[in-house]
This record gives sequence, C-alpha cells and structure tokens, in this order.
Amino acid sequence: MEREPRNENDMDQGGERRYFARPKVCQFCADKHLTIDYKQADVLRRLVTEEGKIRPRRQTGTCAKHQRVLAGAIKRARHIGLLAFTGSERDDR
Ligand SMILES: [Zn+2]
Repeated sequence: MEREPRNENDMDQGGERRYFARPKVCQFCADKHLTIDYKQADVLRRLVTEEGKIRPRRQTGTCAKHQRVLAGAIKRARHIGLLAFTGSERDDR
C-alpha cells in the first residue's frame, strides 16, 4: 500500500528539531587517514553548515583538539577562497 508522503512540509512550526546523527567518536581520531587540511575543501565542507559556519561539536562529534585545528583550517580555507564565508553569495557588487 502506498501512502502519500506528508513530510514535504519541512518547516515545522516551532517545535521539533531534527537531530543529526552524530558519530560517537571524533571522526578525525577514528580515521587516521582523514586529516584536517585547509586545502581539502571537500572535507571541510562537511563540517560547516550551509551558511558556511563551522558546525558545533555536538553535531559533528569532533573532539576539542580537532575542532580547534579544524576551525583554523576552515578559516584559512575561507581566506584563500576555498570555502565561502557564507552560503548565500554576497553580491555586493
Ligand atoms: Zn579528534
């Protein structure tokens, strides 16, 4: 039997928040091949929000040590233009 999906209305009216599935351990601690590098924009991009903000540790599960490294890498990546400062492009000009 098919049911009509009624989840299209994602704008919930001020109640529930969805929890991101968060890894138990820091993914950088867990995976030694995964390094934090400002040149790896694709890795960094997973760790920022759509708005280009750094995701909080509670969402990503990143440990304090790596979160710190990460923040530095993200800032550097932004600086050289690998990551956007914000998701929405700022067309000032
Ligand atoms: Zn870690």
